[in-house]
Amino acid sequence: MELDVSEVRKDFPILGTKRSGKRLVYLDSAATSQKPSSVIDAVGYYYRNYNANIHRGLYGIAEKATEAYTDSKRLVAKLINAESYRNIVYVRNTTEAINLVALSWANANIKKGDTILITQMEHHSNIVPWQLLAKRKGAKLDYVGLTKGNMLVDMDNYREKLGNNPRLVAFTHVSNVLGVINDAKLMSSLAHKSGAKVLVDGAQSVPHLSVDVKDIDCDFFAFSGHKMLGPAGIGVLYGKEELLEEMPPIFGGGDMIRSVSFDGSTWNELPWKFEAGTANVEGGIGLGAAVEYLNNVGIPRIREHEKKITRYALSKLAEEKVSVYGPGSVKDFESKKAGVLSFNIKGAHPHDVASIFDSEGICIRAGHHCAMPLVNKVIGEPAAARMSFYLYNDEEDVDRAVSTISKVRKILHIS
Ligand code: PLP
Repeated sequence: MELDVSEVRKDFPILGTKRSGKRLVYLDSAATSQKPSSVIDAVGYYYRNYNANIHRGLYGIAEKATEAYTDSKRLVAKLINAESYRNIVYVRNTTEAINLVALSWANANIKKGDTILITQMEHHSNIVPWQLLAKRKGAKLDYVGLTKGNMLVDMDNYREKLGNNPRLVAFTHVSNVLGVINDAKLMSSLAHKSGAKVLVDGAQSVPHLSVDVKDIDCDFFAFSGHKMLGPAGIGVLYGKEELLEEMPPIFGGGDMIRSVSFDGSTWNELPWKFEAGTANVEGGIGLGAAVEYLNNVGIPRIREHEKKITRYALSKLAEEKVSVYGPGSVKDFESKKAGVLSFNIKGAHPHDVASIFDSEGICIRAGHHCAMPLVNKVIGEPAAARMSFYLYNDEEDVDRAVSTISKVRKILHIS
């Protein structure tokens, strides 16, 4: 059944507000998503009714908070088809999840001269932790190139680079600039054949696509709550149990220990071993509510809806003679592109474009999108404008954006 966007929007209080006297059009969900009332209410309800520290109190509301926090992990585990909540480590965001793997598993396993392989389409959060690690260890960081035009991962180049037997392959499931959807299952299986461990950055996939970590067979999978209707400050590292078991914790303190003596400590069981100190309880509870909301709507329905708007937007942008970076033709976007469209209007700086959009009550992103090597070197521009869609956007939002492009040209005297 198709999504009824006007009904969906009623669930998101901010989308009922106006900017510059016009209905707010939010086209920046790749940066962060808006939040439905059920998520806002779940967090408020927790604070009003059972706020307590978890894993500590022996009284009713503390037990209830502990149960709600663990239940949210059960929901997250089910969403990505993980074995159990034991595989779900809560962190602050995707960035922290990737850094945790870099500082723990990779720090223990990557040696001088080893290779870490990533792609040229990574977000800074899947580049910089590996640059830091490579520098510390004397390891090599290598990048898989992209195909010309469509900017997909060049699979020939990937196979060739796997021939160097990297210790770790880390790649994004969906690019936050190009919207490219990588074949994570194929990339993971090829990497495993070459003896590498695999980390997938799922920041842009979990909110929009059905994700099955068992089917992908990755070793680690990272994502952020705030991009999937949940609160900021809560993110997820999924890891295979045997790897999480062998990994040392990176933060020490309360809750992550089984015992502490003057001579040393032993670690708590999974996943708590990696969660030192008081948890982001409200974040976990809010994320659980977000997963429930996504389940009620249905991720496959959201994906179909986004395909429809993306198809519509691509054709409207083509009419306006604006081309998007990456797989942009209506023919090839279906399986390879999510609802993320980066573009430039010839003769206009993307920052000017974004501020003219803002004056029309439309939020888009402009800049390097935390992917400077991709934007500056591969695309070859200092910056780009980006529209990204979610379940609360529709064709009317696209029409508002497209008519603003004409306005940009008029204001900036671009013929
Ligand atoms: N990876 C990708 C592909 C992203 O789009 C983002 C955020 O935009 C991140 C990682 C980092 O996410 P966070 O800032 O929530 O850690």
